Amino acid sequence: MRTTTVAATLVAALVAALALPGAVLAHGSHAQPKDGAASAPPPSYVAGAPRWWKGNTHTHSWWSDGDSPPETIAAWYRERGWHFLVFSEHNRMAEGESWYPVNTDQKRDALALYRTQFGSEWVVERTAADGTPEVKLKALDEFRTLFEAPGQFAFIKGQEITDRFFEHPVHLNGVNLEKLVIPQGGDSIAQMIQRNVDAVVEQGRRTGRPTFVHVNHPNFHYAITVEDLLPLKVTKGDGFFEVYNGHPGVRNEGDATRPSMERMWDILLAKRLGELGLEPIYGIATDDSHEYTRWGVGEVNPGRGWIMVRSARLTPDSISAAIRRGDFYASTGVTLEEVQVGPRTLTLEVEPQPGVEYRIEFVGTRRGVDLAGRPVETPATAVQPANERWRQSLHYDERIGTVLRTVNGTRASYELRGDEIYVRARVVSTKPHPNPYRAGDVEMAWTQPLVPPMR
Ligand SMILES: [Zn+2]
Ligand SMILES: [Zn+2]
Repeated sequence: MRTTTVAATLVAALVAALALPGAVLAHGSHAQPKDGAASAPPPSYVAGAPRWWKGNTHTHSWWSDGDSPPETIAAWYRERGWHFLVFSEHNRMAEGESWYPVNTDQKRDALALYRTQFGSEWVVERTAADGTPEVKLKALDEFRTLFEAPGQFAFIKGQEITDRFFEHPVHLNGVNLEKLVIPQGGDSIAQMIQRNVDAVVEQGRRTGRPTFVHVNHPNFHYAITVEDLLPLKVTKGDGFFEVYNGHPGVRNEGDATRPSMERMWDILLAKRLGELGLEPIYGIATDDSHEYTRWGVGEVNPGRGWIMVRSARLTPDSISAAIRRGDFYASTGVTLEEVQVGPRTLTLEVEPQPGVEYRIEFVGTRRGVDLAGRPVETPATAVQPANERWRQSLHYDERIGTVLRTVNGTRASYELRGDEIYVRARVVSTKPHPNPYRAGDVEMAWTQPLVPPMR
């Protein structure tokens, strides 16, 4: 206690000493502006009430295998109402010196757009020794001030940790990182996931930043099964996965014998909470955007999936901390005016759009349902590229992840009956997605699960 008092006194003395000359100068100086600016109140740096912020945590640019420079991409997101953006390059961050070869038509298109948008004095070009035209990749610290503004737009540093178990891609996004995470490897896919998650958690602990990490696109090449994710040991706020990824090649919907991302989520929640005593996994929606020069179904475009985060501030730490608390929802177009999760009730209200209808479904699993997985025979019709070994989740009871209640409308509430392992909400609209992952997709939203206390 005594140290606190001494410290507080010291701080007060310092503040007084610093403030005094400033005050004298302000009154006596001719530098004081005479227009209205002088009397405008200073901005407040105190956090206001929490509000919703829209962002994407999975984006690629020229810094890895995206098709455009980061500025073009940042402009796309900022102009369309996104508040935060994570460039998640493969094992790389947008820092240091790097030159990019402009040697295809698509790259020349992107460069032309880059010059038009930002002016040729902004774009730095040269010719390599072999005659290849090159453009300088600007580091995040060089371009961020073009876009960032308090309460309007912020970048969060991150990376797609791009690991590989034999031919199976194992990708995780580390978000709010201070520095690059080297892919950790492992003796199995489950261990590889655990080790990469731990590496991000450890960096967060070491740096004092609220980092988080999400497992990406498990069905991409069907690399990651439910059983790979089931044993993941995390404390609350360290376990996330992409329930929706906008890249048209990632098979969110699964196939005849392999579960969709949503079904995978339910199996994970039911078994981790109801059987294994482990923390829940939160569901994220992302773009995994790569292509910004060609548009439409089948292209890897931005604007398909995002998260809405409830936070007092739009800063990397504040946004990440809110996500770690689970105070966010995933969306492909449906906006929620309100979400209240727990302790015994899950309530949500949709922001209605004219002419659109909404179906709110509460999805959960009741205690007593058989949680055991059973082997599935590899179907005779299974088509898997020759260089990929078949990976297959076990089969689980259909009552895992069933619709417990449906409400047609824009407001709904679910009160626990008492035997639910968890309940989450999904909103399905009648509005076609303007640039869907798959033709025919409608706009949706997913809340995080309500987990009853005292499990
Ligand atoms: Zn990936
Ligand atoms: Zn990616």
